[in-house]
Amino acid sequence: MVIVAGFPFRWHNAVVKNESRIASSARLPSVNIVLETEPLRSALSEHPRSLLVRCVRDVLTELRSKGLSNGNQPSAAEVASLALARVMRTSLPSLRRVINATGVVLHTGLGRSVLSRKAAEAVSIVATSHSSLEIDLESGRRGSRTSHVKGLLMELTGAENALVLNNNAGAVFLAVHVLASGREVVISRGELVEIGGSFRMPDIIRSGGAALVEVGTTNRTRLRDYEDAITERTAMFLRCHPSNFRITGFTEATSIEELAALGRSRGIPVVDDLGSGALFDVAHRGLMGADTLRAALARGADLVTASGDKLLGGPQAGIVIGRKDLVEQLAKHPLARALRVDKMTLAALEATLRSYRDPERAVREIPTLRYLARTEIELRRMALGLARAIRKRCPEHIVVDCVRSDSQAGGGSLPEENLPTVCVRIRGGGAGFSASILSERLRTGELPVLARIKDGAVLLDPRAMEAAEFLEVAEAICLATS
Ligand SMILES: *Cc1c(COP(=O)(O)O)cnc(C)c1O
Repeated sequence: MVIVAGFPFRWHNAVVKNESRIASSARLPSVNIVLETEPLRSALSEHPRSLLVRCVRDVLTELRSKGLSNGNQPSAAEVASLALARVMRTSLPSLRRVINATGVVLHTGLGRSVLSRKAAEAVSIVATSHSSLEIDLESGRRGSRTSHVKGLLMELTGAENALVLNNNAGAVFLAVHVLASGREVVISRGELVEIGGSFRMPDIIRSGGAALVEVGTTNRTRLRDYEDAITERTAMFLRCHPSNFRITGFTEATSIEELAALGRSRGIPVVDDLGSGALFDVAHRGLMGADTLRAALARGADLVTASGDKLLGGPQAGIVIGRKDLVEQLAKHPLARALRVDKMTLAALEATLRSYRDPERAVREIPTLRYLARTEIELRRMALGLARAIRKRCPEHIVVDCVRSDSQAGGGSLPEENLPTVCVRIRGGGAGFSASILSERLRTGELPVLARIKDGAVLLDPRAMEAAEFLEVAEAICLATS
């Protein structure tokens, strides 16, 4: 996996140079002759012939369309090497591994949480064999697929009941649709948020079939505002965690305890969309501001929803916990079937939840927690190690040093949290260095490395990396700068 890294990029550069030379030649070899050349003959053992033929044809067409005139005749070997480069490019999977040097731990673009080894193994087992997905092995009867995680969720959060769906957006949508369609959902104006560019609370409420009743103002919403909004059509009080922003200054928000008490006295369920629900208090690790699912329930909400792949550190999933009757109502609705999770998700979630039975183990085993808990001292050690690896491999015209910076939790978690880190900074020794070109080359290489740009330098943040990746990053930088 690693070894190939050196090869295509340089080769690609060489090929590009050849291309301009070939472009000025007059006659092209035939497809068959090119296919007979050595690199392509041995490529046949790994790639289908039809793909090789298509790539040779494409290269020939491209050369022809470049308007061949006098000059060099492109040899069959030259065409073959261009074709082989094309074969290699099209054979790379589209969804593939990248190195996250952005310092954003829960990066939605990079797949949010990295699964624990145990979770990945559990996925692999159920993916490659049959499983007890919907069978109760004791009785031999048909079982429920969510039974594999329901008990663990109840145990870890103290909830009466639990349900797992495809994602948190689906969980909120289902709750609105089942409990409030054709009626009204009351929500504070300060919580009509957009998260991650595609989850807009007002859109979810409307597409769930409910009417949105906004109360209060952007910065202040009092209990009275909720109370005044109650009509005979009120079906739900919805709270949405302001995941990716904070309104500060002259603000007032109704506490969920007060709202829950109001809901109880008037028979209106309170649903708290926590977004990034943590399973235990990560505050003692310097991560303030993360709400646990247990705490959210204890404040009195009837239902709490959260994502499986944010602070929880598991697979993409939507978790609903809370009142037994309401969760049951959601689980029985036909839409729950449309939003159901697959066996691989369940396997990963079960293994992740099992780690949480011992919080210390969870922090060791679950990458998201481990990355967030890294101290500045640890990160400095990592940055020095990465810088050393890069200096060993790389040309002298780049300058490599370490600088203090901040990482982000991402995924709408802990928006106010400053996570101090130490980054490896790469600058050019002379003129002609461009941080944006370097970062683009790193992104488009064989093993993509995603980095930050700051003040004309490329910053590599080790927070969401493993030390075992340092050599690969050094290699990628070497290729991108040579
Ligand atoms: C992230 C988030 C969502 C969407 O969750 P997905 O699991 O990505 O569907 C919804 N609500 C809040 C408050 C969030 O932070």
